[in-house]
Amino acid sequence: MTYAIAAPAIPSLPISGSDLRFPIRRVFCIGRNYAEHAREMGASVDKDAPMFFCKPADAVVSDGADVPYPQATVDLHHEVEMVVALGAGGHDLTPEQAATLVWGYGVGLDLTRRDLQGQAKAKGHPWDVAKAFDHSAPVSALRPAAEAALTADSMLRLSVNGELRQQTRLGDMVHGVPQIIAALSTLFELKAGDLIFTGTPAGVAALRRGDRFHAELVGVAELDGRVV
Ligand code: MN
Repeated sequence: MTYAIAAPAIPSLPISGSDLRFPIRRVFCIGRNYAEHAREMGASVDKDAPMFFCKPADAVVSDGADVPYPQATVDLHHEVEMVVALGAGGHDLTPEQAATLVWGYGVGLDLTRRDLQGQAKAKGHPWDVAKAFDHSAPVSALRPAAEAALTADSMLRLSVNGELRQQTRLGDMVHGVPQIIAALSTLFELKAGDLIFTGTPAGVAALRRGDRFHAELVGVAELDGRVV
């Protein structure tokens, strides 16, 4: 195949303990998956209808890289989230089938232009400009599922400039990982290389230029970066 212009690179993430990289196909995100966060946003959780949005694969930023403060906002927010990487795909899956697709886990930030999101919500517009901007998805190296001993008591947390901002048990998720994947698979055909951001706990707040963030899925993945 000869392309008419230079072909875009395939976005990818490092894998803990390996020289291989994980190629990224799509990035899906669930909204309102922790009740306390839904409340702080003035929203409610609909257990029967999980809410999804997407980011472009090339919005992913690797561990340790600087994150440029985005254009068109004065209210950039952090949302720390567990990230699930799929090693296989399918559609219209049961939660039992969905659970077998998980290749590995990481921790990421669903960076959000909160001011643009507020405007979109008020106008009934889509969330793309609030969520799907360049560099909006810093993600750690991925840990293969076989090496990640996650339980309901596993902790997800974010510090900014050494101060704890967000912390939760994974067991406080409204929809668990198999349920999220199964629900997504009724809307999209999922494939190997897909990443899923699994929602943020309470405590979202602003990031400013110069802030250093440290996100952790304890015992599994760590993410460091700086807003510049
Ligand atoms: Mn989020």
